[in-house]
Amino acid sequence: MRLEGKTALITGSGSGIGRCTALLFAKEGAQVVVNDVSAEQGEATVSAIREAGGTAIAIQADVTKASDVERMVDKALATYGKIDVLFNNAGISGVGAVHETSEDLWDKVVNVNLKGVYLTSKGVLPHMMERQAGCIINMSSCVAEIGLMKRAVYASTKGAVLALTKSMQVDYAPYNIRVNALLPGTILTPFVENYLKSSYDDPEEALATIRKRQLGGDLGRPENVASAALFLASDESSFVMGSPLYVDGGATFG
Ligand code: NAD
Repeated sequence: MRLEGKTALITGSGSGIGRCTALLFAKEGAQVVVNDVSAEQGEATVSAIREAGGTAIAIQADVTKASDVERMVDKALATYGKIDVLFNNAGISGVGAVHETSEDLWDKVVNVNLKGVYLTSKGVLPHMMERQAGCIINMSSCVAEIGLMKRAVYASTKGAVLALTKSMQVDYAPYNIRVNALLPGTILTPFVENYLKSSYDDPEEALATIRKRQLGGDLGRPENVASAALFLASDESSFVMGSPLYVDGGATFG
């Protein structure tokens, strides 16, 4: 098993990519701390992990609130004694060009997608620094690299997460902490279904247009991203530092 004995904290793992990754990490021997802002969704992921024979706890917390993050990290450490892997996965969408994006939406998306990464990393890093060991995976997106319509605030946050990843890698390499970023393309999850429904008159036609960008011919599945996260979380990637890992079926280059 590729994560035997490791503890992994995955934010936003009550749904989609995070849930799929939590299940895979547990199958590979990790003790998983399942975080979500929705207690119900987090508990559902933990039930699925336990049914499959894995080990996990759910901790409800909003990654935009420092006090929630502090409580979450304390509880994770009290339960498992250490955090080897932090996957900053929680994120929300935000649709619109700049002139269509309200200040309220801008703040909301920046808070979850960027401040959430900052706060959770800040909560976990002192522990990793003390142990002189750790692995952090930050969820960016291929929109950090390519221009897509009506993604002003969302793309801004994902570009910033990529820059933050590189900055963190330089700061924490002396503590034997690796920090890498995942850049998925379009992965079929509730997140994308909601984005398509709220952005296009004909979501099916929009989906067909997105499919045409795919060099590999089809859209991604949460499993595609989970297996890339597994590689970054495992010791197999011990020489991979500060890297953007594209999981996009070639969309960035298509
Ligand atoms: P999803 O909506 O299925 O899951 C996101 C989860 O994050 C939800 O369970 C939600 O409750 C949780 N969450 C939201 N705000 C939170 C908060 N403040 N604190 C804690 N948890 C919170 O979405 P997904 O498609 O699985 O996306 C996961 C990540 O992958 C996001 O960061 C997203 O931006 C990124 N991403 C997704 C795609 C895609 O095509 N699906 C592509 C590139 C990047």
